[in-house]
Amino acid sequence: MKDNKLKRYNIYIEGEWINAYNGETIEVHNPATGEVLGYVPNGGEAETKEAITAAEKALKEWRELPANVRSGYLKKAFHIMMEQQNELAEIITLEQGKPLNEAVGEVQYAAGFLEWYAEECKRVYGETIPAWSPNKRMIVIKQPVGVVAAITPWNFPAAMITRKMAPALAAGCTVVLKPATQTPLTAIKLFEIFETAGIPKGVINLVTGSAKAIGKTLMEDERVRKLTFTGSTEVGKKLMEQSAKTVKNLSLELGGHAPLIVFDDADIDKAIEGTIASKLRNCGQTCIASNRFYVHEKVKEQFIKKLKDKLKNYKVGNGMETGVEIGPLIDGNSFEKVKEHIKDALDKGATLEFGGKAHHSGINHKGGYFIQPTLLSNITNQMLITKEETFGPIIPVITFETEEEVIKMANDTNYGLAAYFFTESLSRAVKVAEKLEFGIIGINDGKVSSPQAPFGGYKESGIGREGGHYGIEGFLETKYISMKI
Ligand code: NAP
Repeated sequence: MKDNKLKRYNIYIEGEWINAYNGETIEVHNPATGEVLGYVPNGGEAETKEAITAAEKALKEWRELPANVRSGYLKKAFHIMMEQQNELAEIITLEQGKPLNEAVGEVQYAAGFLEWYAEECKRVYGETIPAWSPNKRMIVIKQPVGVVAAITPWNFPAAMITRKMAPALAAGCTVVLKPATQTPLTAIKLFEIFETAGIPKGVINLVTGSAKAIGKTLMEDERVRKLTFTGSTEVGKKLMEQSAKTVKNLSLELGGHAPLIVFDDADIDKAIEGTIASKLRNCGQTCIASNRFYVHEKVKEQFIKKLKDKLKNYKVGNGMETGVEIGPLIDGNSFEKVKEHIKDALDKGATLEFGGKAHHSGINHKGGYFIQPTLLSNITNQMLITKEETFGPIIPVITFETEEEVIKMANDTNYGLAAYFFTESLSRAVKVAEKLEFGIIGINDGKVSSPQAPFGGYKESGIGREGGHYGIEGFLETKYISMKI
């Protein structure tokens, strides 16, 4: 990848690697340095229509293949991906910024979806329902929804693609993917892997370029029967509106604003470990990152002291360098937002316990936005940081006294993706897990994502679930067949 720094990459339609029809390209930058890594086609409406046509053409044969044959393609892709994990991880770090060891972790997690759905593929069962009449038979079968539009974000450039494409392909759907403009090189590498695995022409198609033009074309085309989107709640709502005209099937994985609660009966070391796992991964840029830290009055001092001691050891820098545990933020907009959240909190009376330093060292403001892990206390509900997704390595601590009060504060949000809490009481664990209005709950656990488990949110955090046996359901229609015999 390093040798190909200024390579011009192509999009992939019907098994061909091509340029945008107008020849235009978009620069891809390294967020650690601002350097240009390469160029991808600036595709739009015409390329997207072509990709939909290819996907529709390929659908007929792909959906008819026996499940074990589709499974074979996915398994092959899984093995190639694992063989090439270091190369893929390097691409992720170069274009996304996360430390290399985290990128390797993402590749393994991403490959896990190919492996899981290669198996799940064979278990798309129907049903026979006992009829109320002796001369009737009632059968339910599952069929692929059809052509799928997949739109993915930059924070997990490999995993967000396989989490969608693996179940879609397993179900017998064909796909048009639009990856995030900041991280298209990982998507291109994944498509090279799928191509090597022999996935037939037209089954998978990749278009990079203008989000608005590609998104609108995908949403308005009646041949596209399903949208699977991961990204911000704001864009998710726009796509929902655009898809209404053709009543598309929707899976939306949107923003989060996760609470992390430390009860007075918690093991503080476990709480610190969970805080770091849920907050500092990917420099705080995950949808399930803990964003509000509710710590019981009685254990606040102990929690802050132990956390400060840990944070001192974190090395911030270019993710390609050995020993770096926190990479750069993705861009200048994120940098400004994170700094604004810190400033707003300090202006309104918060205490800076650790960190707070931010610096910019990149070329032409295209990268190099670094921020220290930051611990703030004396946080109140008036501060921006308690209301919005921060997407940065900031830990704002709010204290509480009762279980009832903290559950109310944790649930007081339009988001409902993930929540974490720490307690050594079994009955509290069960009760609190049931009361929190979130799709994913970590009990004494800050690392919850896994290919075999359902992932998704309540409220404005989304619709549907990805992962596990739940993940394939979104790509299947249910057909009821009534027979008179
Ligand atoms: P974003 O701005 O919503 O972008 C996500 C994707 O949507 C990108 O491919 C983007 O393309 C595309 N897009 C933007 N505007 C569009 C439009 N008008 N029509 C069609 N597509 C459009 O989100 P992001 O900043 O990349 O990602 C961060 C967000 O994703 C956070 O809110 C995070 O919580 C959420 N997220 C959720 C999950 C989950 O599973 N729930 C997982 C990861 C991230 P361009 O890149 O070309 O703009």
